[in-house]
Amino acid sequence: MAYSVPDLGYAFDALEPHIDAKTMEIHHDKHHAAYVTNLNAALEDTGIGDQPIEQLIANLDQVPDDKRTAVRNNGGGHANHTLFWEIMAPGGASEPSGAVASAIEGLGGLDTVKEAVNDAGVKRFGSGWAWVVRAGDGVEITSTPNQDSPVMDGKTPILGIDVWEHAYYLNYQNRRPDYLAAWWNVVNWDVVGAKFDAAKG
Ligand code: MN
Repeated sequence: MAYSVPDLGYAFDALEPHIDAKTMEIHHDKHHAAYVTNLNAALEDTGIGDQPIEQLIANLDQVPDDKRTAVRNNGGGHANHTLFWEIMAPGGASEPSGAVASAIEGLGGLDTVKEAVNDAGVKRFGSGWAWVVRAGDGVEITSTPNQDSPVMDGKTPILGIDVWEHAYYLNYQNRRPDYLAAWWNVVNWDVVGAKFDAAKG
């Protein structure tokens, strides 16, 4: 069974003015689709493509040597973008609550976490992601290059922000910090909280 791009579940313009409709359309329908197409092509005839994407990328040593880089990049891209669309779904809580809120308090509170995530995103040279991952009863902030995922290091992301230029260039051009600042307006904290609750501590 091949991997497929999940439906966005909301309109391309649902995150405006923070993320514009054209960026969302190209990002979901072209960029994410390309990762999935390339992932499926790399996995053809390997017999390992029938498992949850997180399980696949958590165990890259199961991938044949000549396919590993393609699976790492495109499998990571598939997993990362799937999470990204989910945590931006409109209509959820605009502030954390419950266990994830306590975890964030443990790092000094939401403003401190936002600042640290934004800092990680700004300092990520080239393309990559900034993350909040579950760590025990708390959370940690990290970043990855390219389409690498914290899952590849045995960690479970609960929030991630795409800092590839394709995620913001139409609206923000070179102003990555402005994109990062605006992005927090579209976070669905109900989804992030559910991911925290479901994650292994
Ligand atoms: Mn992207």
